Amino acid sequence: MDKLDKKYHIWTAGCQMNVADSRRLGSSLEHLGYQYTEKAKDADVLVLNTCVVRQSAEDKALGYLHSIRPLKEKNPNLVINLMGCLVGVRGAEKLRKKLPFVDVFSPPSDSGPLIAYLSQDADYIAEANATQSRFALMDGEIIIPEHERGKLVSAFIPIVYGCSHACTYCIIPYRRGIEESRPLEEILVEARSLARQGVKEITLLGQIVDRYGKDLENGENLADLLRLLNEVEGIERIRFLTSHPNYFDVEVMHAVAELEKVMPHFEVPIQAGDDEVLENMHRGYTQADYRALIAKIREEVPNCSIATDIIVGFPGETDEQFERSYQLLGDLKMDVAHLARYSPRKGTVSQRRMPDDVPDAVKRKRFHRLESLQKTIASEINARLLGETVPVLFEAKVKGRWRGRTPTNKLVFVEADDDLRGLILPVRITWTGPWSMQAQLLKSSPEPIVLK
Ligand code: SAH
Repeated sequence: MDKLDKKYHIWTAGCQMNVADSRRLGSSLEHLGYQYTEKAKDADVLVLNTCVVRQSAEDKALGYLHSIRPLKEKNPNLVINLMGCLVGVRGAEKLRKKLPFVDVFSPPSDSGPLIAYLSQDADYIAEANATQSRFALMDGEIIIPEHERGKLVSAFIPIVYGCSHACTYCIIPYRRGIEESRPLEEILVEARSLARQGVKEITLLGQIVDRYGKDLENGENLADLLRLLNEVEGIERIRFLTSHPNYFDVEVMHAVAELEKVMPHFEVPIQAGDDEVLENMHRGYTQADYRALIAKIREEVPNCSIATDIIVGFPGETDEQFERSYQLLGDLKMDVAHLARYSPRKGTVSQRRMPDDVPDAVKRKRFHRLESLQKTIASEINARLLGETVPVLFEAKVKGRWRGRTPTNKLVFVEADDDLRGLILPVRITWTGPWSMQAQLLKSSPEPIVLK
């Protein structure tokens, strides 16, 4: 496609799914001839890919939207596309009235409305793209925007869209729609295309990634998919998230243990350590079930790392109930804990039926207690790696140091002049902290040793 003298810019907030969607939308726009600009003010097409999982995320999206309004006033031809969870799958009629300066509204993971809009007033109708929705792609298609090509080492691939699990606090099912697995072949095509374009690591995404395939005719599951992806040439590492305790089965643990490229790291949120709170959240398991699951994972995949999510201050959460989250985190010693203060989201069951009765100050206090506990735990876990040799996949140079990750997803920084991007190299850990570590590159020969 010939290049247009027109530029696009994408502002992305929120989860990895949005990062994946923005990358794919960027390349769709480039298929139409648009060129990337890193400056919003230079754009002819400005996309806001938004998140509303908590009020703070929604405020951020609305804040950015209003900050770019003057750009539209200056340049009425600017196309503003609001995309993602602020829009949702249910149509944008109300938003359209509230935000008249937005030209196009797109549901999450859907490039269709913008591509259709742009195709109308440009002569450039790329047949496949004009009808494209949810990023179906053709074999061999370039799916990395030009400015990231050759630089992107690790890429996200959505494998399950939407979510059909009704956690009472969560807005995602309302905004992303019902669960829908992508066809297996389509995922393989995407993985192969990414590999050909230099990507070394893929992370498979789903709100409940273990539900992959439950709605597919042939009944393939996550373990089957992992086995097939393990064979993709050029892809060196495979990860997946997020797992739900109820659907995380032993077959996946076996796949992780057996498959060389699938990394021993799991993201399995518990959300709360008290059974009544878990029930009010409609999570579908008890804290004892969760403890048993973590023990089972550790038995099947020794030396793995595990991350969890915890919400503090859910409606009705007493001090005593909170202490059970604290206790659980202290007992299970997770590698990472993603913490959040409960944020009522309009339309969810908890927002409609359960008063947000834990004062903000209490939520903050609980948050900080868990945070400092986790800091100690993560420091201890990471300190065990001191002096060890581990293979690190290097992604980018940041402020003079190379950044990479270990198989267990620990962030590592290394001082090196060579170009390490995309290489997996053995390093010796020389310093560890709770959130990252430093290391020295080990080179026993002048050429970097590439570990498979
Ligand atoms: N589908 C995944 C992740 C969902 S969103 C899962 O079920 O675990 C990521 C995290 O945001 C959640 O794990 C949860 O901890 C947090 N979250 C979701 N809704 C929230 C809300 N209303 N208030 C505070 N945190 C929330």
